[in-house]
Amino acid sequence: MTKAYSAFSLLCEGLNQQQGWEPAWRDAAPKRAYDAVIIGGGGHGLATAYYLAKNHKLTDVAVIERGWIGGGNTGRNTTVIRSNYFYPESAAFYDFALSLYEGLSKDLNYNIMFSQRGMWTLAHDRHGMDTLRRSANAMLLNGIDAELYDEAGVRARIPGLNARPRFPIVGGLVQQRGGTARHDAVAWGYARAASALGVDIIQDCEVLGFQIEGGRMRGVETSRGTIRTDRVGMAVAGHSSVVAQKAGVRLPVSSYALQAFVSEPVKPCLDTVVLSPAIGTYVSQSDKGELVMGAGLDLYLSYAQRGSLPWMERAAAGLIDLFPQFSRLRFLRQWAGIVDVVHDSTPIIDATPVPGLWINCGWGTGGFKAIPAGGWCLAHLVATGESHPLARAFGLNRFRTGALIDEAAASGIAH
Ligand SMILES: Cc1cc2nc3c(=O)[nH]c(=O)nc-3n(C[C@H](O)[C@H](O)[C@H](O)COP(=O)(O)OP(=O)(O)OC[C@H]3O[C@@H](n4cnc5c(N)ncnc54)[C@H](O)[C@@H]3O)c2cc1C
Repeated sequence: MTKAYSAFSLLCEGLNQQQGWEPAWRDAAPKRAYDAVIIGGGGHGLATAYYLAKNHKLTDVAVIERGWIGGGNTGRNTTVIRSNYFYPESAAFYDFALSLYEGLSKDLNYNIMFSQRGMWTLAHDRHGMDTLRRSANAMLLNGIDAELYDEAGVRARIPGLNARPRFPIVGGLVQQRGGTARHDAVAWGYARAASALGVDIIQDCEVLGFQIEGGRMRGVETSRGTIRTDRVGMAVAGHSSVVAQKAGVRLPVSSYALQAFVSEPVKPCLDTVVLSPAIGTYVSQSDKGELVMGAGLDLYLSYAQRGSLPWMERAAAGLIDLFPQFSRLRFLRQWAGIVDVVHDSTPIIDATPVPGLWINCGWGTGGFKAIPAGGWCLAHLVATGESHPLARAFGLNRFRTGALIDEAAASGIAH
């Protein structure tokens, strides 16, 4: 039984010279067979395993990760959490994720450092303001908190904004329940809680192929041997099309590098998340003090996790236009992840043409905020074979019928 984290256990371990802590999760070796295998030890895969065990009592489950857990996009993202979507299907799904985030530290008994510091989107002209007004109306109609402010209202709430920016600030929309969480902690918290319920977390194990017999899923071939199973859930983000192809499944996914940067750490100076779609920059301050910045997708397909200089330059220029006082900060690190983009910027959580293989992908630039709901819905699919009501609109069939949920166009925000 995993020892609970609490103020009392901290005190006891302090007195015990920290000698009594156990590893947070069991680093398991693969067994020959499982009731279900989840490919991908990112947030979505780990959350799927946790909810399979917790909600569906399916505990003979393995999470297969080719590197280390959280080493993919989950550990590379800029950690912004929000549910400011336009269409009712997306709003309901992402707001469910946000509501699970609100109770996640308690549920997992792991501090994910969720900080609801608000998420601002700025407008720099009349058309930008019209877009924000439309977003705010849609959010309120969907039952999601939204507050719209004019320039004075924005400046009163975000101290330090440039008094005379190149692109004038006309107004802003804030979702106060939005914010950030510690990305590694989300992966580690789900891994620990899943492992405590009996799930095997298997790292350094790559899925190389599938065993499909009589047209049905019967197992996975891995770098550490064959694992038999009738149920496979796949949550491998930017590598979805590559892994699905090994089962003969073609996905409408394109993979791009998305990059982020942090500055050297400074004392607390920014207590919210600020996004300017027009300038192409967003920024927040981590608990360590670094300014965390992100920008857009590289404009060409790639599996190279390194990003490119033009976006760095553009993001830095945008940041300095919004907050000139940051101009003397130095970049500390820059990195990239490979994200899985679909035409309508809405995820896919569905069965594939191979019975026994289900997928969760298509998160593009915004799947960290979706992790609890993505895992919840994929677990439902793997356990019951039926789509969860929240994920029914996120099927593969929409690319045939044309019933797309075009959030990139509707919300006017990057995915
Ligand atoms: C720079 C950047 C900034 C971002 N900012 C935000 C943000 O602010 N807010 C937000 O909501 N989202 C953001 N995102 C998107 C978000 O990070 C992803 O959508 C989310 O983390 C996807 O989680 P996942 O579990 O599906 O994927 P991942 O965390 O990538 O996990 C997939 C795992 O599958 C493994 N894998 C791949 N192939 C195999 C194989 N053959 N065998 C076994 N394992 C395999 C990989 O090693 C990886 O660990 C950002 C992404 C990036 C790159």
